[in-house]
Amino acid sequence: MSKSDLSLYDITKFTAIDYPNHLATIFWFAGCNMRCDYCYNKSIVFGNGKISQQEAIDFLKTRINLLEGVVLSGGECTLNPNIFKLCQEIKSLGFKIKIDTNGTNPKMIKKLIKNSLVDFISLDYKAPNEKFYQITKNRNFSDFEKTLKYLIKKEFDFEVRTTIHSQLLNEDDINKIIKDLFKKGYKNSYFLQNFIYDNDTIGNISQKNKKVSKEKILNIIDVKYRNY
Ligand code: SF4
Repeated sequence: MSKSDLSLYDITKFTAIDYPNHLATIFWFAGCNMRCDYCYNKSIVFGNGKISQQEAIDFLKTRINLLEGVVLSGGECTLNPNIFKLCQEIKSLGFKIKIDTNGTNPKMIKKLIKNSLVDFISLDYKAPNEKFYQITKNRNFSDFEKTLKYLIKKEFDFEVRTTIHSQLLNEDDINKIIKDLFKKGYKNSYFLQNFIYDNDTIGNISQKNKKVSKEKILNIIDVKYRNY
């Protein structure tokens, strides 16, 4: 892998919370095809990478037998043309791989799964179709949906999650997502993540954020709450 390919914005050397039940490191990919109003990773989304994938692999070699997994996050890591090769190298060192994705690159996700190069996926369900563009400034709901359907059909080990700010999503919107997940046969837990205020979000989102009323949320699938 070339040292001139500076596709990573940063490396978090250690995390015990970002890969369920695994001690891991996080590789943050620069660049994203969305502009979510609540995103506080502005420097990652708009910024250029400064770490090469070779440097990341060199770091990983120092963590063999100390860490179990690698989280590929961002930005949107599946857009990087070298992610396949990177995953092959990570696997050859004996690490498991978790991918955080907005789901808009189903081709790459399928390719990685078919080649056993990913072990767990966190898939963002940003909003119901009719609010998808408003929140993400991306019109690619159909590709997100392809990813979701594929993971369900494959019975792949994955979780669906939604970040909520009351300025953007309300209980009706969440229930639309829940009904859609139910209809598509999603069997795993669905995570509702309360937005954590940051004063530098892409959409300059307000600090005022009313938490969802849990009693208004449908319980036809297993719903779990984070930061509530
Ligand atoms: S929150 Fe949205 S804009 Fe930010 S990295 Fe994730 S998908 Fe991209």
